[in-house]
Amino acid sequence: MAGVYIHIPFCKSRCKYCDFFSTTLLDQREKYVAAVLKEAEARQKEMTDVRTVYLGGGTPSLLTCRQIESLLEAVHADRAEEVTIEANPGDISREGLEELRKAGVNRVSIGVQSLHDRLLTLTGRRHTADEARKAVEAAQKAGIDNISVDLIYGLPTQSTEDWAEDIRETADMGVQHLSCYCLSYEDGTPLQRMLERGEVTETDEDTENMMHDMLCDLAEAKGYEHYEVSNFAKPGFRSRHNSAYWTRTAYTGLGAGAHSYDGERTRRANVCDLNKYMAAPAEAYTAERLTDTDIYNERVMLALRTAEGVQREELRPESIAAAEKYLQRGLLRQQGGQIAATREGLHILNMIIEDMMI
Ligand code: SF4
Repeated sequence: MAGVYIHIPFCKSRCKYCDFFSTTLLDQREKYVAAVLKEAEARQKEMTDVRTVYLGGGTPSLLTCRQIESLLEAVHADRAEEVTIEANPGDISREGLEELRKAGVNRVSIGVQSLHDRLLTLTGRRHTADEARKAVEAAQKAGIDNISVDLIYGLPTQSTEDWAEDIRETADMGVQHLSCYCLSYEDGTPLQRMLERGEVTETDEDTENMMHDMLCDLAEAKGYEHYEVSNFAKPGFRSRHNSAYWTRTAYTGLGAGAHSYDGERTRRANVCDLNKYMAAPAEAYTAERLTDTDIYNERVMLALRTAEGVQREELRPESIAAAEKYLQRGLLRQQGGQIAATREGLHILNMIIEDMMI
């Protein structure tokens, strides 16, 4: 067993672009934590060799330190080498983070998203840019020396200069890891409705690609390795938990909406419904048995998202034929036996992956 993911589906308010499973029913937190503890108890056998723990959401920083401690204890986080909590600026203080550090948290992932107040307001984030800066500083002062920051590009009205400023300033704050995502308009979100009403304009593809290239250049110039399509790390600070997803290592997901993988053929998804989950925490799930084709396609897709890429000798002839086309066009590169996307290839990575899957 490699990792344990615990989903904390509570948010104070909903961001306008978000379609993750979360709720604003904060009064359910205590009951929910009790349900997750029950699920952890029932799935103890899966957690004999825990290497990483990740509390994600939602907003895990909305739990009390006592609640977080009880969850960490239930999954044997004391044996893990990496224990991450996602936190939103505005919910965290130096004192709170010091307590969490003492409870075993050694990595904090902060949802900064932008350092421009105009863009934070537009997307419905609850915090200001200044609060985001202070959150990073609080984590550093609390002695957390493995900090990741989430940033978004391709936001309506965000200029390339706005984006460059965000990357530069975040890097200059001395964080060890960056996770950077291009905005997507998801069905049913307020931002999607704003787009349909013409209140915001979608960033065009060329600008998104330009922003992606700026990100790669600036992050690399600041000493980050671009190790996965959306992730950049200072040497030695790759996310071990997420790296296990990309190499298809087993993980246990606890909580409503959490996913698990047994490292072989079974993927499991807990129900995305707070009440159904709390009524039967260890039983409200569906399981899927993967076929050989599913496993192959997952391997190709996940490996091509990483800087290491996929091993040529693992590929079937039809995937090699598809890859050759992109190798000739300079959209894939081959080094030793590994095939990976070039910078330009990352712009159309989904298309390349689709072509190489069987
Ligand atoms: S805080 Fe995160 S999970 Fe909650 S609504 Fe905003 S983006 Fe979604």
